[in-house]
Amino acid sequence: MTAAGVYIHIPFCLSRCSYCDFATSIYRGEHAERYVDALVKEIVSQTPAANARLVDTIYFGGGTPSLLSPRQTEQILGAVHKSFAIDGRAEVTMEMNPGSVTPQSLRALRRLGINRASFGAQTFDDAELARLGRSHTSKDTLKTFRDLRESGFENLNFDLIAGLPGQTLARWEENVATALSLHPEHLSFYLLEVHSGTPLAEHIRLGKQPEPDEDLAAVMYESMLEHATAVGYKHYEISNLCLPGFASRHNTKYWTGAPYHGFGCSAHGYDGQSRRWSNERDTARYVEAIENGSSPVVEEHELTGNEVRAEAVFLGMRMMRGFDVKQYRELFGVDLRDEHADDLKRFREAGLVEFDGNMIRLTRAGALLSNEVFAVFV
Ligand code: SF4
Repeated sequence: MTAAGVYIHIPFCLSRCSYCDFATSIYRGEHAERYVDALVKEIVSQTPAANARLVDTIYFGGGTPSLLSPRQTEQILGAVHKSFAIDGRAEVTMEMNPGSVTPQSLRALRRLGINRASFGAQTFDDAELARLGRSHTSKDTLKTFRDLRESGFENLNFDLIAGLPGQTLARWEENVATALSLHPEHLSFYLLEVHSGTPLAEHIRLGKQPEPDEDLAAVMYESMLEHATAVGYKHYEISNLCLPGFASRHNTKYWTGAPYHGFGCSAHGYDGQSRRWSNERDTARYVEAIENGSSPVVEEHELTGNEVRAEAVFLGMRMMRGFDVKQYRELFGVDLRDEHADDLKRFREAGLVEFDGNMIRLTRAGALLSNEVFAVFV
C-alpha cells in the first residue's frame, strides 16, 4: 500500500505580501493558540479507517508555519503521531520565512523531528523584496540559511520567483548565482502570477508597477535551468530542481496520485483513488466549525473514471522523467498514444513533448507551456 502524506496548514504571516492570494492572515498570538487547539482536535478526530496507511511525509505549509512556537509545533506533531503510524524515516518539512526563526527555535524544531526546511527567499535583491511587501531582507535570508545549517538541517529548499515587475535578466541571474553558491539541496522556482484582487494586481492596474514580461520570464526560466543543471541539480518537476536524492517526497505525492491528508483551513485531502475533499478556507469559520463539533470539510468530490485518468496524465506529466504510457494502459486499459494521437503528434512537432520508449515527457519548451499541453487531457 502506498504510504500517505500529511499536510498541515498554518495560515499566519508577519505581513501580507503584495502578490499573495493564499489563505493567510496576520499573526496574532491568541488566534494562533486557538487555531492550534482546533488543528489538534481535527487531527485526533480521524477515524481509524482513514488512517490505516503508514505516513512517510509530514508537511507544515502556509502562511509561515515557523511563527508557531516549538511548543505549538510539538502539540501538532504529537496529535499526528497519536492518529497515524509514522515511518521512522519520514520526511518532515516546515516552510519558514527568513527572519521568523532563531538558532534556539531551529534547534528545538530539529529536536522535534523537523528534518527539512523550505524557505521563501524569493529574491536576494532588497529593492525587489520591498516591492513585494516581504517582511525580510536578503541579509535575513543568508543568516537564516546559516542558522539552519548550524542547527543540523541537511535538507533545505529555497523558493525563488522569476519575472518580478521591473526585474532584469541580469538581476535574476545574480539571484540564481547567489542561491546556487549556497548549495541548497532543493530549489523551487516560480514565474510570478498576478492574481486579481491582490495589491500587486492593483499596483499594475494603476501603472505604479510595470506589467510582468512573460517572454522575459521564459528566458529566466531557461537560464535558471541552464545554470542549475550545469552544477549538478536535476530538473525533476516543472518548477523544481534538486541535488541527487533530494526530490521533495511530500510534493511528489501530489504529482503521482498518492494519498494525503490535509488539516487546517483551506487544506485538501485525497484518498489515493477517487475522493478529494477540502476544508473551509476562512480561518475563523474553520476554528468555529471545529469548536462546535462540526466537520470543517466544505467540499467533497468523487472523481469520475475520466477525471481519474485525466489527473493521472496532467499531474504525472509534471514530472520531467515523463509519463509511463504502458503503466497507464495497464491501469486504465487505454493507450494514451491512440487516444490522443493527433494532439500528441501536434505537440511533438511543436517541440513540446518527446517520446522515449514507454515514456512521454515535456521538453523544456513544453514545461513552459504546460497548461496548454495539459488542457487537451482534461
Ligand atoms: S509569506 Fe507567503 S503566505 Fe505569507 S503573505 Fe507572503 S506569500 Fe503569502
